[in-house]
Amino acid sequence: TVRTRIAPSPTGDPHVGTAYIALFNLCFARKHGGQFVLRIEDTDQTRSTPESEQAIFDSLRWMGLEWDEGPDVGGEYGPYRQSERKGMYAEYAEQLIEKGHAFRCYRTSEELDALRAGLKEQGYNRALKPYDLELPKDEVAKREAANAPYVIRMKVPMEGKVDIEDMLRGTMELDWALVDAQILLKSDGMPTYHLANVVDDYLMKITHVLRGEEWINSAPKHKLLYEYFGWDMPQLCHLPLLRNPDKSKLSKRKNPTSILYYQRMGYLPEALVNYLGRMGWSMPDESEKFTLQQMLDHFDIQRVSLGGPIFDVEKLSWLNGLWIREDLSHEQLAERLHDWALNKDNLLKILPHAQQRMETLSDFAPLAAFFASGMLPINADSFASLKLQDDDLVQALQFALWKLEALRNWERDDIFAAMKAVADSLDIKVKDFFAPLFIAIAGTTASVSVIDSMTLLGPDMSRARVRYAID
Ligand code: ATP
Ligand code: GLU
Repeated sequence: TVRTRIAPSPTGDPHVGTAYIALFNLCFARKHGGQFVLRIEDTDQTRSTPESEQAIFDSLRWMGLEWDEGPDVGGEYGPYRQSERKGMYAEYAEQLIEKGHAFRCYRTSEELDALRAGLKEQGYNRALKPYDLELPKDEVAKREAANAPYVIRMKVPMEGKVDIEDMLRGTMELDWALVDAQILLKSDGMPTYHLANVVDDYLMKITHVLRGEEWINSAPKHKLLYEYFGWDMPQLCHLPLLRNPDKSKLSKRKNPTSILYYQRMGYLPEALVNYLGRMGWSMPDESEKFTLQQMLDHFDIQRVSLGGPIFDVEKLSWLNGLWIREDLSHEQLAERLHDWALNKDNLLKILPHAQQRMETLSDFAPLAAFFASGMLPINADSFASLKLQDDDLVQALQFALWKLEALRNWERDDIFAAMKAVADSLDIKVKDFFAPLFIAIAGTTASVSVIDSMTLLGPDMSRARVRYAID
């Protein structure tokens, strides 16, 4: 039976790209009466968080992309979280050493830098190979005796070509010279993506790997690992990446990429799934609006076209409008609004910041409007009366945005400290620095404090508004 999987890493916000790849894996599995698995690739322990994992579960479910097996629902081939499978990978890496397909590498990062520089100097355009990395036997013994840290690397051919079969692209010829002696097991005993991914796809009996085309260059290593282990390789299908309207790879610098942002903006999950379904794919009758069920009914992977699909937020809004106007009764829309933001839980989040400023109940609406809005109706005039102007103004907002993008912990005190640090570094009074931020975030300076507003709005909406103000 056909088994597909999505294998996100729980680092940061749940990505629309993850939902897009999940959608196609789900459709392919269903079309062939198979199963769709969710595996969490959390081997990067410094970047993985339980919150991010939960957000992946919640946002995929919100979109109706349900999996048959996964960390939270169990299944025959678990555990489905790589951090819980650590021991297995080390065993498989040892197996490769025994068979002569991998080796312990004691090279330090300084040595690696020097080796790479050396290759470049000699005019070689190739990756580091086992041959480059080899140390004299007595040196290895010395480092071994000193308990020096080591990694396990795979052996790779020096040169020649490798054929990769892709369900959409046919046979692709790649060059071994560019493939490095990939680390399989890190010095802390954790596997890299490549080893864990191959071992798990094998043990979880995955038959088809549908993933982003950014992984094409990894395919030779994966193919070689399957050969080393003597396992059949799943069929590969590299889907075109989502792109910004300027054709570059969709990135949060240019477009919101977090599903949470689209949720918060008030896009309907049906519309988002519909739009992602149109990324490089179309219904046989070319209809623009379709449900997940209709997509499942008509799915054919060969209808994927390889031209980079453009994720255009304006088109998504247009489609979302169709869904709101054509597919919801008043009753249903009222319910959606309630579930989205107009519920008691949400009011209780805002009221601590609003109540002290209220004389009548109707004062609430303007105080809370920033919270339930998307982009605010601001323009250059909105900033006209501020102390900071022109280049200084843009610079302040740009620096604030960079800092907000880098901020990992979205807590009130952290946001404040980050913003104060920017103001200090630009040598601007905190008050003058906060004024334009206030307008970007809340539309006016006479509102809930800007730091509280950002805390409530969350990272995606806050960043999007600052970005919007700069544009
Ligand atoms: P970076 O900017 O560092 O490349 P990113 O925005 O690509 O980061 P990642 O955390 O690397 O985000 O990716 C999260 C998931 O989203 C991955 O599974 C990746 O395959 C997918 N993804 C990222 N960008 C795209 C894209 N443009 N199209 C489709 N999927 C994407
Ligand atoms: N963990 C990888 C990711 O984050 C999985 C890639 C794959 O599907 O092989 O995209």
